[in-house]
Amino acid sequence: MMEQVSVIGLGPMGRAIAMAFLAAGHPTTVWNRTADKADELLKRGATWAGSPLAALDAGTLTAVCVIDADAIDAILDQAISESGQHTLPARTLVNLTSEGPARTRELAARVEKLGLPYLDGSIMTPAAAIGTDATRVLYSGPADLFDRHRQVLGALGGVAVHLGADPGRAASFDVALLNLFWSSITGLMHSFALAARHQVPATALAPHARQMAQLVADLLPGLAANIDNGSFSGAGSSSLTSIAASLEHIVHALDEARVPATVMRSAKDVVDSAVAAGHGGDSPARLAEFLGRDRSEEHLRSPVAGSGSGPRAS
Ligand code: NDP
Repeated sequence: MMEQVSVIGLGPMGRAIAMAFLAAGHPTTVWNRTADKADELLKRGATWAGSPLAALDAGTLTAVCVIDADAIDAILDQAISESGQHTLPARTLVNLTSEGPARTRELAARVEKLGLPYLDGSIMTPAAAIGTDATRVLYSGPADLFDRHRQVLGALGGVAVHLGADPGRAASFDVALLNLFWSSITGLMHSFALAARHQVPATALAPHARQMAQLVADLLPGLAANIDNGSFSGAGSSSLTSIAASLEHIVHALDEARVPATVMRSAKDVVDSAVAAGHGGDSPARLAEFLGRDRSEEHLRSPVAGSGSGPRAS
């Protein structure tokens, strides 16, 4: 007998998750605030729950994948008011919704108080990858809970990594990795826009852009090791002083081409601040240490930070 599962939330990701459970042979119950998003899944053999409480009650495990933690709170409120009790059926809730670490911990505490074992998951791949080898999901929460449900969660395909007991730990990785992803994508779009202003089509730039992205990937392990070891010397690599000059020239090129330079100007502000704080001879690894300093008070005065007085590009 395949384990019975439920899925709450049928946006593109929730539908992909439900489809993967069905494809793996799990009897799958689904619920979504807007019912018609379940139509295709019902045709493929899913069961409509009728309410969040019925969904929670139907499976040994319920995967919830909605827009944010506030939506999960609203769904839990609905289940509680339907049950008329202060606890909910003690089925595992696997939250596959992206949220910040602090909000995730708050939600985990609420869910556990309601009597449901809680596992958090951050999906690092697009909906189209779910059910294939390309899927990558980072989990955190009690290790025994992860082990208990590992096989069922395997229906999502690819790689499942458990990062530790703190329910917010997967979300900590998620926000850091999404920061990398979206700053890369917005940087790439700026590059395409700048190239286009010089009549360079995106497809002509693409192979060269790919090599630059590969260079970042190649540099990444060494930079990470240097950050963790506290090795910041720029001797033998690019120093921050040299990088500041390079960024100045890129900001100028963006201005000249009348492409908004706000993103690159912010990057330059950070480098300038680090140089002004005496780190001009250091490598880019220093920026991670510099940006990560506790500057709760300085933050109130300056958006960039810390040393405070870096020159600002006009
Ligand atoms: P969305 O992020 O657009 O979320 C849509 C879902 O949230 C729908 O089921 C919607 O219900 C529900 N919802 C929104 N507000 C409420 C509410 N107040 N009460 C109840 N339900 C609500 O869709 P996705 O499926 O794309 O993403 C879901 C999660 O997966 C997000 O956290 C996203 O970051 C993450 N993710 C998505 C990826 C993707 O490729 N799509 C990739 C990696 C992660 P309704 O249909 O009624 O509006």
